[in-house]
Amino acid sequence: MNLSEISRLSEDQAREYFEQIRWPHGPICPHCGSVESKKLEGKAHRSGLYKCSGCGGQFTATINTIMEDSHLPVRTWLMAFSILCSAKKGISALQLQRQLGLGSYRSAWHLAHRIRHAMDREPLKGLLGAAGGTVEVDEMFVGGKPRKTSQCANPWRSEPPQGQSEKNPGCRFGRAWRPRKSAGRI
Ligand SMILES: [Zn+2]
Repeated sequence: MNLSEISRLSEDQAREYFEQIRWPHGPICPHCGSVESKKLEGKAHRSGLYKCSGCGGQFTATINTIMEDSHLPVRTWLMAFSILCSAKKGISALQLQRQLGLGSYRSAWHLAHRIRHAMDREPLKGLLGAAGGTVEVDEMFVGGKPRKTSQCANPWRSEPPQGQSEKNPGCRFGRAWRPRKSAGRI
């Protein structure tokens, strides 16, 4: 799901989307591991609250995650994930604050800090580069690099730049991991 699609979700839809990612086979109690639970509905309960049939404990999908105890909506978190993971050269907390329309720099800083922290832990760490190795990221152009002149001539053009189309979208990212000991020195 891209940033535009996430931004159109309601908070309940965003939470359900996150639940599907965290629990693809249904809710799992974080207290006892039971897969039998009941969703608590109604105004008396906050949304996304489950009650375990095994231990009787209550939980939500954000428990034991970097989102736990956050006052920010799940939708804001998903948007922050999307922005931070697609920012090729990184992104400052100030920029994140502006893009998400957050009221405080402190909230933006905590968001960015927690997400970066999660990227440095398993299972993301293993995906991004295990054992302290180096991840190299680069871009390539499929179907030829677009001509600068065609883009500069009309930056607001609705058509993709030359050499790109829906089937052939042009820029693609590639990623490679190499162990630390073989890393070159500059
Ligand atoms: Zn339980």
